[in-house]
Amino acid sequence: MSDEGEPSDTTVCAACGTAVPAYDVVSYGSIERGYRVLCTSCFNAEVASALGLEHFEHVRLEPVVMTDCAGEQHEFHFRTRLLGELMVLEAFELKAGVPNGYQFEVVGDPDGEPLALLGSLIERMRHSLSVRYLESGEDGARIADQTVCGRIEWDEAGDGRTPLLVIDGREVSWVEFGHMLMSFEGWQFRLAIRDRSEDV
Ligand SMILES: [Zn+2]
Repeated sequence: MSDEGEPSDTTVCAACGTAVPAYDVVSYGSIERGYRVLCTSCFNAEVASALGLEHFEHVRLEPVVMTDCAGEQHEFHFRTRLLGELMVLEAFELKAGVPNGYQFEVVGDPDGEPLALLGSLIERMRHSLSVRYLESGEDGARIADQTVCGRIEWDEAGDGRTPLLVIDGREVSWVEFGHMLMSFEGWQFRLAIRDRSEDV
């Protein structure tokens, strides 16, 4: 999806004046004082100064391309967000300028070494890209083994009543997933939900 990765529109940061893509923008403030639209870097600087975190440094990470076990390339963009006592580092693919496909997140200490956090994120991405839970069958995709990991997203087509799943970095509708499960009719299953920042 790297060819579709260009941001469709940008927003100007109220602090530094840089035009940044929509996914790199935070509305910062309160109802009383009003909101300012800040780029992630300026948002982190504001939070760091509010918390007196002198050693926090915002590291701007360039996109990386990684290849999955089927030989398909994935371009990942990064975002670092300072949320109080936590530093969240995310990696995501883009489609039409919006995070889509594979998404990963790790949580660290704001005073920690950013590159160490990046190291553990990359490790998780490699681990995830080394597995494919779905394979192509005669009538569409099917479950390759007996385990599936993925992400639960909002499905606009179903008005949010049923989930849109993202498995192997691709969208799978609830109905489509139901069809895949029917090849296991009569079997049992175990469903475990995990936080975004946890390994699955
Ligand atoms: Zn800015």
